Amino acid sequence: NKLRVGLLFGGRSGEHEVSIISARAIAQGLELEENANKYEILPFYIQKDGVWQSGVIAQQVLESGFPQEILSTTPNLWQFPPETAQVELWFPILHGPNGEDGTIQGLLTLTQVPFVGSGVLGSATGMDKIAMKMAFAQAGLPQVKYKTVTRAQIWSNPCVFTKLCDELESALGYPCFVKPANLGSSVGIAKVRSRQELEVALDNAATYDRRIIVEAGVVAREVECAVLGNDNPKASVIGEITFDSDFYDYETKYTPGKADLFIPANLPEVVAQQIQEMALQAFAAVDAAGLSRVDFFYVETTGEIFINEINTLPGFTSTSMYPQLWANTGIPFAQLVDQLIQLAIERHSPVN
Ligand code: ADP
Ligand code: MG
Ligand code: MG
Repeated sequence: NKLRVGLLFGGRSGEHEVSIISARAIAQGLELEENANKYEILPFYIQKDGVWQSGVIAQQVLESGFPQEILSTTPNLWQFPPETAQVELWFPILHGPNGEDGTIQGLLTLTQVPFVGSGVLGSATGMDKIAMKMAFAQAGLPQVKYKTVTRAQIWSNPCVFTKLCDELESALGYPCFVKPANLGSSVGIAKVRSRQELEVALDNAATYDRRIIVEAGVVAREVECAVLGNDNPKASVIGEITFDSDFYDYETKYTPGKADLFIPANLPEVVAQQIQEMALQAFAAVDAAGLSRVDFFYVETTGEIFINEINTLPGFTSTSMYPQLWANTGIPFAQLVDQLIQLAIERHSPVN
């Protein structure tokens, strides 16, 4: 009578490949001695076209670490594999849109089976950079200056667009960052240093999303804190990311050797404590549950800490920041996945 855990990975996002590697690490964690007699894994692979695969195909993708490229000619998105009925707990490890943003969480909620991580609200609020920033502002968390713009404004007549750029330029200055509201992994993000770059970046960001955010750039160290728990969550030690590239873009994130992680980050104890407190406030502000990684900018010269974002389903490969932060805080990988499952059960119980 092992608990049948539906491991859900792949997904319709730019982070499809990362999700497979995260899922593989989790599967390995569940197969370790201390978990193997408690949990049985049922793998579910969501192809890039949105079709769900189970059984042998899902297992193959999980073991090889490579996506399955055979896509359906007529994808039937309402048809789920029969094994879904056997799942007693879901472990979604999907990053980005259609997985981290509340869509899958809505579907899983309807199945009435407990699942790991945030619910619909926490996932959606955490994924949408505009909603997220509003929640952080309401909680009094310090953030860099930003403006929100819409695709409609960007793709409006030249007169409206010129006025928009004038306003952004005078409010935020250069360099600034242009970001689609609902993505991750730095996809669609541009650092701009001139009017011309701003115009190009806005037009490009509008191809990714209807809503766009533009932020004043800061020169700062990038530090991250892991959060684990439901209503009384805990914060991990702080980690730092360093790199030589212009900013932490997609290539830097996913090319081995381009970025380094330092755990624990070399920070004054008071700064580390402040970041941990802010991480817990951010977790509550968006109504996250189970796990999140909260990312910050630390301006060493002034001592300022700005919250950058929360990621409700952070990278979970064996070398990812989230599991490494917990390993350094005293919770090894196998124990971490076990705790996440127990937190999902706790959250699902009638009193919660
Ligand atoms: P994502 O959700 O895709 O990770 P982020 O908002 O974290 O998007 O931005 C990705 C990276 O871009 C950050 O890790 C950082 O390197 C850089 N960046 C984003 N916003 C700013 C900013 N306001 N000032 C300086 N660097 C930034
Ligand atoms: Mg993100
Ligand atoms: Mg980020």
